[in-house]
Amino acid sequence: MATVEWHSPASEMAVQQFDIAAKKLNLDSNVAARLRRPDRALIVSVPTRMDNGQVQVFTGYRVQHNDVLGPFKGGIRYHPAVNLGEVSALAMWMTWKCSLVGLPLGGGKGGIACDPAELSRQELQSMTRRYTAEIINFIGPDVDVPAPDMGTNEQIMAWIMDTYSQHKGHAVPEVVTGKPVAIGGTLGRKEATGRGVVYTIMEAAKHLGIDLSRCTAVVQGFGNVGSVVVKELAIAGVKIVGVSDRTGGFYDSKGLPVDRLMELANKNHSLEGCPYGDKVTNAELLELKCDILVPAALEMQITKENVERLQCRILAEGANGPTTVEADRVIQEKGIFLIPDILANAGGVVVSYFEWVQDLQNFFWTEEEVNKKLRDILTKSFQEVLSMSIQQKVDMRLAALMIGIDRVAKAMLWRGLYA
Ligand code: NAD
Repeated sequence: MATVEWHSPASEMAVQQFDIAAKKLNLDSNVAARLRRPDRALIVSVPTRMDNGQVQVFTGYRVQHNDVLGPFKGGIRYHPAVNLGEVSALAMWMTWKCSLVGLPLGGGKGGIACDPAELSRQELQSMTRRYTAEIINFIGPDVDVPAPDMGTNEQIMAWIMDTYSQHKGHAVPEVVTGKPVAIGGTLGRKEATGRGVVYTIMEAAKHLGIDLSRCTAVVQGFGNVGSVVVKELAIAGVKIVGVSDRTGGFYDSKGLPVDRLMELANKNHSLEGCPYGDKVTNAELLELKCDILVPAALEMQITKENVERLQCRILAEGANGPTTVEADRVIQEKGIFLIPDILANAGGVVVSYFEWVQDLQNFFWTEEEVNKKLRDILTKSFQEVLSMSIQQKVDMRLAALMIGIDRVAKAMLWRGLYA
């Protein structure tokens, strides 16, 4: 972003996207100067006793980009590549995402640079609790409400909720979302992001006049988002021809057996050793011929190096920031229909918002209510983005950013600058 502290390829990309949208919106330059950088960025040391008795000090982050519309909201990522720049980019994207889908929330993100697959359950728990204690004065139900992201799950959220609650002296379920249902989580949260991706694909198919039951799909990443996308697309009649995770990918033009892939991933926590289809690398996977391509792992997977070789008709971004700005231009030229991350994967934060509301009211909804409300919000948002894209003759990413940024900017102008 504007200064060197949060400079990284991901933050540079987020700011480039913002600048393009700000220019098109003719955004107030004072507002733009503020929005190019986060409100607050916290770096913490997380000393953790490892199983061998040694203390390992991990680095943790929480970045709060903008809270003009409401409390900061955003996931916590455990991954070796986590750094201040990446977390800052992810926090900025959360601001636009919450605003785009009309939530009274701002954008935040957090993470710890670590490889969760290398940590025991006890080490993960100790690290999570200490991280929570380090950021405790900066989070809270009215302030900043974390959620799961890559490498974290409902168990991690349960430990965060418990640590925060122990400090307060009473249960505070509304401090995080994506919790187990048994302690105030909502039905439908675990599946919400992947389900939302598929709802937006359905809208895109309707718009393009494509019959999903004749379509093929390739999905990169087989975690919380990717595996649900695979499952829900298969239910919609789409043939899944390629999947992958951090260990590599698998391809079968006749279709992969989705139920068996799920069983394998549940049992081994990875697709390693998958006996179905031919082995492909993650790079090859993205270039496979298919109707629908869903990157659902890391950012910057589709770049100027590989974008020319993409062979899909719809690119639905399950991951945050999987496509670089240079690649965006080529995607538009190639006529690939893009469903941008802040729209495609917004289902997660929408149902996180539902969870927060249910916790605050101590009144819980059925899964049908959750899914219906989710679908209504995403369908409305998709149509708004599509209309903006047609009216302004811009791609879907720029249209989505313009809507999200414009609402935040208007709110900032109403509230004014506190001296
Ligand atoms: P996850 O940890 O549950 O799963 C990540 C998957 O990606 C795993 O299958 C992992 O093996 C795979 N992966 C890791 N590195 C890879 C690589 N180099 N190549 C290919 N695959 C790789 O994470 P998740 O929650 O599914 O998140 C995935 C993406 O979706 C992230 O970009 C995240 O920010 C975004 N997202 C998640 C949510 C959510 O609710 N969990 C919401 C919105 C957006």
